[in-house]
Amino acid sequence: MSTFDVPSKALMIVLSSAAGLTAEKRKQQGQQELFYQFSRKSQGYFSFNVLALRLRDNKVHRQQKNALTRSNGNVLLIIAHPDDECMFFGPLLLKLLQEPKVNIYVICLSSGNFNGLGSSRKREFFKSCTALGLKEENCFIEDIFNLATCQFLDNPLEEWPKESIAELVFEFIKKYNINLIFTFDEKGISGHLNHRSIYYGLRNLDFFMKSFFSNNSRFLIKKLSQKEVPTVLTLTSVSIFRKYIGIFDLLFSAHQERICVSSAEQVSVIRKAMRAHHSQYVWFRKLYVYFSRYVYINTFTAMK
Ligand SMILES: [Zn+2]
Repeated sequence: MSTFDVPSKALMIVLSSAAGLTAEKRKQQGQQELFYQFSRKSQGYFSFNVLALRLRDNKVHRQQKNALTRSNGNVLLIIAHPDDECMFFGPLLLKLLQEPKVNIYVICLSSGNFNGLGSSRKREFFKSCTALGLKEENCFIEDIFNLATCQFLDNPLEEWPKESIAELVFEFIKKYNINLIFTFDEKGISGHLNHRSIYYGLRNLDFFMKSFFSNNSRFLIKKLSQKEVPTVLTLTSVSIFRKYIGIFDLLFSAHQERICVSSAEQVSVIRKAMRAHHSQYVWFRKLYVYFSRYVYINTFTAMK
C-alpha cells in the first residue's frame, strides 16, 4: 500500500460526506475524482467557487463539465520566491491546467538570492514550472520585462514597497489582459515578509489603477478605460497544526467555498516539481511534500 492510499481514501469519504452522499450511493458511483468548478460572476469575471466531486458518468459530472467549458480567462499567480509555486500553489495550478481556455501566467518577484544561489534558483524555477505543466514562456522571474522599479530582494526581514508591486502588476494586467489574480494572504502562509508584501502591494492595486486612469486622459478613451481591477484571491494561511496534517486538513477545509484538492497523481506531480528545486530540496522539504496541507489542498479568500 502506498503512503497515499490511506489519506486518499479518507479524502474521498470526507468529501463525499460534504457533498451529502450516503455510503450506499458512494458505493454505487464507484471511483471518484476531485476537481473544482468555475462559475461566472455577474461582472463578467470568473472565479473558483466550489469544490465539487466529479462523479464519473453521472448527471452531476456532465453539468459541471459544461460549466467548465464555458469558462475562459487569463490568470496570474504572483509569488515571491522560486519554489513558492509548488510548495504552496500546486493544487491550484494543476487544477487550472486542466482548463483548455485558461491561460496561466506566473510572476516570481525575486530570484531567491538570500544565500547567493539566485542564478541556479532561477533555472530551478523554470524546471519546476515545466514539471507542473506550465508554459515556460508564461513564467517570469525577477526582471519582469525590466519593469520593476526596484529590485525585490529575497530577505525575510525585507518589506517590499507596495507601490512598486502594484505598478508592476498593473503593467502585467494591461499587457496580458489579466482578469483573475492569485497570491498570498496577509499572513503569507509562513509569515515571510516578502510574501506578505505582495498581499499589501495588491491591496494598493485598486488605488493605483484608478489614479492612473484619472491622471492619464489618453487612456480614458482607450480600451483600458473599460478595464476594472481584476479579482484577487488570496491563499489562506492556516495554523501550524493544520499546516502539517496533510490531506486530513480537509476535516477543517471541506466546507470552504473556494477550494482546490489534488488527486493522487497531482500530488506526485507537485513532489516532482519540488524536486526540481535541487538547491532547496533538503531534509525538511522532503518531509514537507508529504505532510504539508498545501501539497494537497488550497483554499482561497477574495481580497476586499
Ligand atoms: Zn517564498
